[in-house]
Amino acid sequence: MTNTATTPDGLHGTRRSLTGWGRTAASACDVVPVRTAEDVDRALAAAAAAGRGVVARGLARSYGDAAQCAGGIVVDITGLDTVLESDLDAGLVRVGAGVSLDSLMRAFVPRGWFVPATPGTRYVTVGGAIAADIHGKNHHRDGSFCSYVTRLSLATPAGRLEVSPESDPDLFWATAGGMGLTGIVVDATLRMVPVETATMRVDTERARDLDDCIGRMAERDGEYRYSVAWIDTLSRGSRMGRAVLTRGDHARLEELPAARRRDALRFDPAVRVRVPATPPSGLCNPVTVAAFNELWFRKAPRARTGELQSISTYFHPLDGVGAWNRMYGPRGFIQYQFVVPFGAEDALRGVLTRVSEGRMASFLAVLKRFGPADPGPLSFPTAGWTLAIDLPVGSPALSPMLDALDETVAGAGGRVYLAKDARMRPDVLEAMYPRLSEWRATRDRVDPEGTLVSDLSRRLGLVSSPRPRRGARRGRARSSPKAKQSATR
Ligand SMILES: Cc1cc2nc3c(=O)[nH]c(=O)nc-3n(C[C@H](O)[C@H](O)[C@H](O)COP(=O)(O)OP(=O)(O)OC[C@H]3O[C@@H](n4cnc5c(N)ncnc54)[C@H](O)[C@@H]3O)c2cc1C
Repeated sequence: MTNTATTPDGLHGTRRSLTGWGRTAASACDVVPVRTAEDVDRALAAAAAAGRGVVARGLARSYGDAAQCAGGIVVDITGLDTVLESDLDAGLVRVGAGVSLDSLMRAFVPRGWFVPATPGTRYVTVGGAIAADIHGKNHHRDGSFCSYVTRLSLATPAGRLEVSPESDPDLFWATAGGMGLTGIVVDATLRMVPVETATMRVDTERARDLDDCIGRMAERDGEYRYSVAWIDTLSRGSRMGRAVLTRGDHARLEELPAARRRDALRFDPAVRVRVPATPPSGLCNPVTVAAFNELWFRKAPRARTGELQSISTYFHPLDGVGAWNRMYGPRGFIQYQFVVPFGAEDALRGVLTRVSEGRMASFLAVLKRFGPADPGPLSFPTAGWTLAIDLPVGSPALSPMLDALDETVAGAGGRVYLAKDARMRPDVLEAMYPRLSEWRATRDRVDPEGTLVSDLSRRLGLVSSPRPRRGARRGRARSSPKAKQSATR
């Protein structure tokens, strides 16, 4: 919602109420659109001079409050949307940080190149992908996004820096998963992955319960590049954790029917339907969701191999439904995503039992296996099981349940994904991210005044607040009443 137009500190910004994809915890921020690297430098310099907080925002697909800064400046980087250079002999592309993975796929799949990791939506920017060090269904094999970033240009309060894993490994890896708090990525060079077709070859199988599912994944995930299990969170008793497992790889040209080979790299997905601004109430309740889950489980084949699916059907089924995040109603929803190490399957089982017994209306949940972590101190993926569950906000039981799940996850040596978080308490953060002080030391090097801040960083105490300069006008935090508490409280 747009409130008032402002010109803070010489910058043309618009005061807007912002939320993440989960539509919780709104806060009022001055949104400054940028089109060039110099615009980004100016926004940072103005924020620093005024002692105001500033953070970047991409396509706002993080679920919580990572891409907003109550009372401060939010730099909208989606205008940095140009493919700057490509060297496809080497599979390298240099792009503005506001380029979306959707645009990258539309530009490069027809030329035989795919992104190294894709989340469950194509509508994320390269800057957002780096800041969250995103993972795809191939993490167990290929690792996360930043392992494919060869260099980046980072605008910081200490100036614009050219950073690569070789030139400044500490800053590079602090930026990977650093949630925009080490600087604003202006452009980056990515290593793409060659593909022969725009089609996926997919094997599907049903698992009768959680143990059956994790057994099947542990046994045969190594044979597949991509693997994901969709779990029915409302099934209980002997069927608790029943799942549909889909695994596959990019189809090779010879695997397509002859008629499709001529146009094998065609990629043109469309949004098929849109959820209205005010969807019918009561759409998401345990009865409708249980019915949906039952239908979805029964519809899946017990076992099918070699099915040819489009990239969007396999990776981004929800992108076909515009604004699906409205489906959970006006109070929004939380996505709870955590990882626990291999060997901590009891913790995974404990979380799922608690969610299924709590009868929260969640349309399925997604289970994946992570491979080894990359060097980023705040990067989320570490070797183990990761489960992501959408949960509608509204039930008074939600907040205490999630607090208890945090304890289980932290106790098992696991962590919650900051790009999805909207409600975690700060006291569990250090246990989940034990290299936090190492990350803070690197960050302080490029932002000694603490100018880069977000609602997420304030809520979790990730960084210190900006120190006011003498005579500087401080941006007062003006958040909506909802923002004064965490999203579920
Ligand atoms: C349907 C859906 C499915 C998803 N599936 C997955 C998944 O499978 N795996 C996964 O890892 N994630 C997944 N996500 C989360 C998503 O990939 C991340 O939250 C990603 O960061 C969103 O990118 P964005 O451009 O929307 O960034 P925003 O949400 O706008 O911002 C996210 C963070 O990035 C920072 N940021 C943005 N641009 C820059 C920049 N140029 N420089 C520095 N910092 C910047 C922001 O400050 C903020 O901290 C999913 C999200 C949705 C909605």
